[in-house]
Amino acid sequence: MKKIEMEIECPYCGGTGLLSGMGEGDGTAVVCHQCNGTGVFSYSYLYKDFTGRKTKEGVKRVYLNSMQKILYQRIVLESLGKK
Ligand SMILES: [Zn+2]
Repeated sequence: MKKIEMEIECPYCGGTGLLSGMGEGDGTAVVCHQCNGTGVFSYSYLYKDFTGRKTKEGVKRVYLNSMQKILYQRIVLESLGKK
């Protein structure tokens, strides 16, 4: 497992360290709870290098998407006289 770590502008307060929303009046702000008012956000991400597609055990049928599965189940149920 590899890890990327970087310090970025706080995405919650835009780097200001302050938040002003509907609860605050004009000219009023609260300290950003994500960066504690620093304006900086420590970002980290764990990942593995891609070494090729892996196999998924136990899968016997694959659909292109979930809608195909729903349609297939409906056709099977209708053919059995069930809805
Ligand atoms: Zn912030």
